[in-house]
Amino acid sequence: MNTKNMLFGMMLMASASLGFTSCNNSPIVEDEYFEKSAAIPTITDFPELVSGEEAGILLMREEEKMAHDVYMVLGQTTDLVIFDNIASSETNHYNAIGYLISNYKLADPSTGVEGTFTNPDLAALYEKLVAAGKVSLTEALKTGALIEETDIADLEKLLATTTNSALLQVYGNLLRGSRNHLRAFVSTLGTYNVRYTPTVLSTEAFTQIVTTPIETGNGNGNMNGNGNKNSYGKGKGNSGKGNGNSNRGGNGQNGNGSGTETCING
Ligand code: MN
Ligand code: MN
Repeated sequence: MNTKNMLFGMMLMASASLGFTSCNNSPIVEDEYFEKSAAIPTITDFPELVSGEEAGILLMREEEKMAHDVYMVLGQTTDLVIFDNIASSETNHYNAIGYLISNYKLADPSTGVEGTFTNPDLAALYEKLVAAGKVSLTEALKTGALIEETDIADLEKLLATTTNSALLQVYGNLLRGSRNHLRAFVSTLGTYNVRYTPTVLSTEAFTQIVTTPIETGNGNGNMNGNGNKNSYGKGKGNSGKGNGNSNRGGNGQNGNGSGTETCING
């Protein structure tokens, strides 16, 4: 448990001891908020790769890592829990591509070191995005949205140019995760009265995503959190168990799962 999560847990314990209504079966186990099996599917068939597919896998491996690494920095600079949550989701995306890399016995381009990349374009982009995101809290959230827009565009391009069932499955899961991340960043910006304007996706494609609900499926959960890790207050939420989406914020936690229990967290 890292310090932030510990603080978060302590805040919730404090909340319970102050007598707010809370669910008996909703202990704060931070692991519940992380996509475990996540984007890593069970794939039995790995059709032979054709032209361009290997390059696509290698690019995505480092692109997922870059998203993770940027969010780790912005989680520190903003203290917003959304960055920690989405960073852990990116780790799952990164691992899902790692699954393809090991099954196809490709050379892994990942340096395994935060902030460093084999692909020079991604190395430069990382520096640029971190600098942009460090400017302010809302610039950090906009940087997150930009990363997700880029991820969506790249994944859609890869999906459109392959018929490989293994790649379609992994990229499809990652794409769904990215749409959820984009929704999370844009809605969080909304709470700061900032309206995000897309710069990579078309207005139509962007609007279609942000005006539709969080997507679930196949244990490919997603985490969104609005709120500041240091804030403390009263929140309301529905809590469910199972594979699905969970939202966590400093002001409460929400989880939409396949479970049946609904309760109010105070
Ligand atoms: Mn991702
Ligand atoms: Mn993402």
